Amino acid sequence: MESPYQLFKEHCGPKFDKFMAGIHVNRQGEVELKFWQEKLLTSFLSTHTVLNLNRDKLLSLIRDGTEMLYKCPENQCWGDVHYDRKAKEWGCGECGTAWKSVASLQDAIHEAEVGRVVSAK
Ligand SMILES: [Zn+2]
Repeated sequence: MESPYQLFKEHCGPKFDKFMAGIHVNRQGEVELKFWQEKLLTSFLSTHTVLNLNRDKLLSLIRDGTEMLYKCPENQCWGDVHYDRKAKEWGCGECGTAWKSVASLQDAIHEAEVGRVVSAK
Protein backbone atom coordinates (compact mmCIF):
# COMPACT_ATOMS: atom_id res chain seq x y z
CA MET A 1 0.00 0.00 0.00
CA GLU A 2 1.43 3.32 -1.06
CA SER A 3 1.38 6.34 1.20
CA PRO A 4 -1.02 9.22 0.44
CA TYR A 5 2.07 11.29 -0.33
CA GLN A 6 3.21 8.81 -3.01
CA LEU A 7 -0.30 8.49 -4.42
CA PHE A 8 -0.67 12.25 -4.62
CA LYS A 9 2.71 12.58 -6.29
CA GLU A 10 1.62 10.07 -8.94
CA HIS A 11 -1.71 11.84 -9.32
CA CYS A 12 0.04 15.17 -10.02
CA GLY A 13 2.66 13.69 -12.32
CA PRO A 14 5.01 16.35 -13.71
CA LYS A 15 3.00 19.06 -11.94
CA PHE A 16 4.02 17.79 -8.49
CA ASP A 17 7.05 20.05 -8.02
CA LYS A 18 5.06 23.04 -9.21
CA PHE A 19 2.30 22.10 -6.81
CA MET A 20 4.68 21.88 -3.84
CA ALA A 21 6.39 25.16 -4.75
CA GLY A 22 2.98 26.84 -5.06
CA ILE A 23 1.81 26.08 -1.52
CA HIS A 24 1.81 29.23 0.58
CA VAL A 25 1.01 29.81 4.19
CA ASN A 26 -0.37 33.23 5.07
CA ARG A 27 0.32 35.19 8.24
CA GLN A 28 -2.67 33.53 9.92
CA GLY A 29 -1.09 30.13 9.31
CA GLU A 30 -3.68 29.10 6.71
CA VAL A 31 -2.64 27.27 3.57
CA GLU A 32 -3.39 29.22 0.41
CA LEU A 33 -3.66 27.43 -2.91
CA LYS A 34 -4.22 28.58 -6.46
CA PHE A 35 -7.29 27.50 -8.39
CA TRP A 36 -5.51 24.78 -10.39
CA GLN A 37 -4.04 23.36 -7.18
CA GLU A 38 -7.48 23.18 -5.54
CA LYS A 39 -8.75 21.38 -8.66
CA LEU A 40 -5.94 18.81 -8.44
CA LEU A 41 -6.64 18.26 -4.75
CA THR A 42 -10.36 17.84 -5.36
CA SER A 43 -9.85 15.35 -8.18
CA PHE A 44 -7.35 13.41 -6.04
CA LEU A 45 -9.76 13.23 -3.11
CA SER A 46 -12.66 12.08 -5.30
CA THR A 47 -10.44 9.40 -6.91
CA HIS A 48 -9.11 8.11 -3.59
CA THR A 49 -12.17 8.26 -1.34
CA VAL A 50 -10.97 5.05 0.33
CA LEU A 51 -8.18 7.05 2.02
CA ASN A 52 -10.87 8.97 3.91
CA LEU A 53 -8.98 12.25 3.74
CA ASN A 54 -10.15 15.82 3.41
CA ARG A 55 -8.31 18.82 2.00
CA ASP A 56 -6.60 19.84 5.24
CA LYS A 57 -5.63 16.30 6.24
CA LEU A 58 -4.11 15.66 2.83
CA LEU A 59 -2.25 18.96 2.89
CA SER A 60 -0.79 18.22 6.31
CA LEU A 61 0.49 14.90 4.93
CA ILE A 62 2.18 16.34 1.87
CA ARG A 63 3.56 19.60 3.25
CA ASP A 64 7.29 19.50 3.95
CA GLY A 65 7.76 22.79 5.82
CA THR A 66 9.36 24.69 2.94
CA GLU A 67 6.10 26.57 2.31
CA MET A 68 6.34 28.30 5.68
CA LEU A 69 6.77 32.03 6.00
CA TYR A 70 8.85 33.49 8.81
CA LYS A 71 9.25 37.02 10.07
CA CYS A 72 12.79 38.18 9.34
CA PRO A 73 14.86 38.15 12.58
CA GLU A 74 17.26 40.85 11.37
CA ASN A 75 17.25 44.01 13.45
CA GLN A 76 14.82 46.65 12.10
CA CYS A 77 13.77 44.45 9.18
CA TRP A 78 10.05 43.79 8.63
CA GLY A 79 10.46 41.48 5.67
CA ASP A 80 9.34 37.86 5.29
CA VAL A 81 11.74 34.94 5.03
CA HIS A 82 10.76 32.17 2.62
CA TYR A 83 12.44 29.14 1.11
CA ASP A 84 14.15 29.52 -2.24
CA ARG A 85 14.02 26.13 -3.96
CA LYS A 86 16.59 27.07 -6.60
CA ALA A 87 19.18 28.42 -4.17
CA LYS A 88 18.15 25.79 -1.57
CA GLU A 89 18.29 28.32 1.22
CA TRP A 90 16.00 30.55 3.26
CA GLY A 91 16.12 34.22 2.33
CA CYS A 92 14.55 37.54 3.31
CA GLY A 93 12.94 39.47 0.47
CA GLU A 94 13.63 42.81 2.15
CA CYS A 95 17.18 42.79 3.51
CA GLY A 96 18.52 39.84 1.50
CA THR A 97 19.87 37.90 4.47
CA ALA A 98 20.00 34.14 3.81
CA TRP A 99 20.10 31.03 6.00
CA LYS A 100 21.28 27.60 4.85
CA SER A 101 18.80 25.64 6.91
CA VAL A 102 15.51 26.15 8.68
CA ALA A 103 17.27 25.24 11.94
CA SER A 104 19.74 28.13 11.63
CA LEU A 105 16.89 30.46 10.68
CA GLN A 106 14.92 29.39 13.76
CA ASP A 107 18.04 29.89 15.90
CA ALA A 108 18.37 33.44 14.55
CA ILE A 109 14.68 34.10 15.23
CA HIS A 110 15.04 32.77 18.76
CA GLU A 111 18.15 34.89 19.42
CA ALA A 112 16.39 37.98 18.07
CA GLU A 113 13.41 37.35 20.37
CA VAL A 114 15.68 36.92 23.39
CA GLY A 115 17.53 40.10 22.40
CA ARG A 116 14.26 42.05 22.15
CA VAL A 117 13.15 40.93 25.61
CA VAL A 118 16.50 41.93 27.14
CA SER A 119 16.57 45.34 25.48
CA ALA A 120 12.97 46.04 26.56
CA LYS A 121 13.98 45.86 30.24
ZN1 LIG B 1 15.12 40.87 6.42
